[in-house]
Amino acid sequence: MRIARVSVPGVEFPVYGVITGDKIELITGLPWPDISDPVAALNLADVKILAPVIPSKVVCVGKNYADHAKEMGGEVPSEPVIFIKPNTTVIGEGDYIVLPPQSVNVHHEAELAIVIGALAKNVEVDRADEVIFGYTCANDVTARDLQNSDGQWTRSKSFDTFCPLGPWIETDLDPQDLAISCSVNGELRQNGNTNDLVRSAREMVSWISHMMTLLPGDVILTGTPAGVSQIVNGDSVTVTIADIGTLTNPVIVR
Ligand code: MG
Repeated sequence: MRIARVSVPGVEFPVYGVITGDKIELITGLPWPDISDPVAALNLADVKILAPVIPSKVVCVGKNYADHAKEMGGEVPSEPVIFIKPNTTVIGEGDYIVLPPQSVNVHHEAELAIVIGALAKNVEVDRADEVIFGYTCANDVTARDLQNSDGQWTRSKSFDTFCPLGPWIETDLDPQDLAISCSVNGELRQNGNTNDLVRSAREMVSWISHMMTLLPGDVILTGTPAGVSQIVNGDSVTVTIADIGTLTNPVIVR
């Protein structure tokens, strides 16, 4: 199923719905653990799609594609390297990525995002699907200059608007063998496949859950393939993942 979080005219709070074609059937409450019966149906064109979730945390895997580790001047680490983006970085389809004055070199990073659907602690790999609600597109926007100069990644990854997610969550999806790409102003910059993930989506859910408890709605970014590059004021950056969709965000300086 294709699950979106949307703003409906006349309704003050975001609501979830199930998309079929150009229609959306609205449900009550959150879509996990179970999706409730629909309460209304609307044309998709009549709602605004929001970020599909506001997680308690976004846990990100670094250097999880060998070709990207290489372009960063290193190798795939012997143990996974992870970091966290605060949930205040999250924006949705069509929202602006705002370039901060502290950086002169902000990069896009197209990534497959996992959305957790159940409390997850010490989950073994072969049971990871039980706590995975679905998958969406993500852009791990990064101030590359600050990442290098700071010697750690918190500031470079954590500016407001630095985590576009969306446009929706696909719940019936095998995360293996998905084409993943990023284009800027229509020009292809990244072109990879999730088969090249060093540690798979399910492996990372398990590995992370043995350290920290994952809560329903939490998001894991699985890493980016080679081809990261700068985005500047006025650009339009699009992440596309097969069987999910496209996530496009304009870039602005304020
Ligand atoms: Mg990344």
